[in-house]
Amino acid sequence: MLKGQEISIVGAGIGGLATATALAQKGARVRVFEQASGLGEVGAGLQISPNGVAALEALGLRAAAAKLANTPEAVVLRDYRGAEVVRLPMGASAEARYGQPYWQFHRADLLAVLAEGARDAGVELVFGHRLAEVSQKEARVFARFGNDLTAESDCLIGADGVRSVVRGLAVQGRPAEFTGQVAWRGLVPSDRLPKGLFENAAQVFMGKGRHLVAYPLRGGTLINFVAVEERVGWADEGWSLPDSPENLRAAFQGFAPPVQALLAQVEETFLWGLFNHPVLPNWSNGRIGLVGDACHPMLPFLAQGAVMGLEDAYVLAQALDTNGIEKGFQAYETIRKPRATRVQKGAARNAWSYHLRNPLLRGAAHKMLGMVSQKALLGQFDYLYAHDVTEQN
Ligand SMILES: Cc1cc2nc3c(=O)[nH]c(=O)nc-3n(C[C@H](O)[C@H](O)[C@H](O)COP(=O)(O)OP(=O)(O)OC[C@H]3O[C@@H](n4cnc5c(N)ncnc54)[C@H](O)[C@@H]3O)c2cc1C
Repeated sequence: MLKGQEISIVGAGIGGLATATALAQKGARVRVFEQASGLGEVGAGLQISPNGVAALEALGLRAAAAKLANTPEAVVLRDYRGAEVVRLPMGASAEARYGQPYWQFHRADLLAVLAEGARDAGVELVFGHRLAEVSQKEARVFARFGNDLTAESDCLIGADGVRSVVRGLAVQGRPAEFTGQVAWRGLVPSDRLPKGLFENAAQVFMGKGRHLVAYPLRGGTLINFVAVEERVGWADEGWSLPDSPENLRAAFQGFAPPVQALLAQVEETFLWGLFNHPVLPNWSNGRIGLVGDACHPMLPFLAQGAVMGLEDAYVLAQALDTNGIEKGFQAYETIRKPRATRVQKGAARNAWSYHLRNPLLRGAAHKMLGMVSQKALLGQFDYLYAHDVTEQN
């Protein structure tokens, strides 16, 4: 049904590029309009759990992605002083349990794989186009961009991220609320740190009202971090707002020596406010639909935002191909909404467990966590990581 259909996608992020590839592979003629002048993406790490790798495989991109992936040996939860609370094996164990590996990427590397996959499938990437307006009439969708250019198509997909213009114009929904948490992110070259300071693992250091996640990228040459602090002061939701590294260092004073050594080397960092977004009433309006963060923005505490965009891509292409555009959008929402909502809520809950403020409560919770068997802890993630999008269509 998609053969020859003209589809416009707004946004060349993880969700937009994956969706473009999946649709073009079904025979659609796809153009992706991106506001930026190129794919040059902010430096940051992305964890792609086994369910995301299953989606990459379905798009035929697993082998290309594998060449750039880091495979951590474990996820390690520590208290803020560095004592190990629990260690979950990843590496070969994750692959055996979930059917696919747990990977970590520099975001620019994964975007490059997706962009190449899109171009190979015949997708046209159009940069420097910022969507300003969208309307639909008689089975056609009309997009107007800030540079006054226009595009017409059979269907338009908003993959334009957490502050989606398409969502605002076509679907709406209730405003987001500040969670009272902010996050810094950054990268530090490993050669500026004592050798072996960070093992090949995703490590979470958990303290009162704050936590820091760190993991290596690009063969261990970089250490990526995301540091979250609860605070009253509001911060914008954008991802590229620079902040002084001194503020970050001050917030994590008293944390374990590896955290101090890492933060001492931070020269550039970005701060963003974390917002709770209410579940949207609809994911589409006629021939206009949404994927990724535009559709179900989530807090970063399960590392699933990009992964959900990959899953969306595969399911949406199947649904539109089987059902046509309008019914296809509805079929896609029926399949995806319960899962994305569950993950959105799960991510919001995780912040609470990382940030316990009362030291007695925190000590007791960490002790209990340490006593739970690895099998039981890993089992909590089965619904998430063992999910293979190709099996539900
Ligand atoms: C520091 C950090 C760490 C994260 N870690 C993880 C992780 O480990 N694992 C994980 O799965 N997720 C993670 N996430 C979440 C993940 O990055 C997002 O969920 C994911 O990038 C969403 O992809 P997307 O394609 O929907 O949106 P985006 O990646 O936001 O892409 C949207 C694109 O649309 C473009 N755009 C916006 N408006 C317009 C317009 N009007 N016209 C044209 N183009 C427009 C933007 O320029 C952008 O290129 C993390 C997020 C952050 C900030």
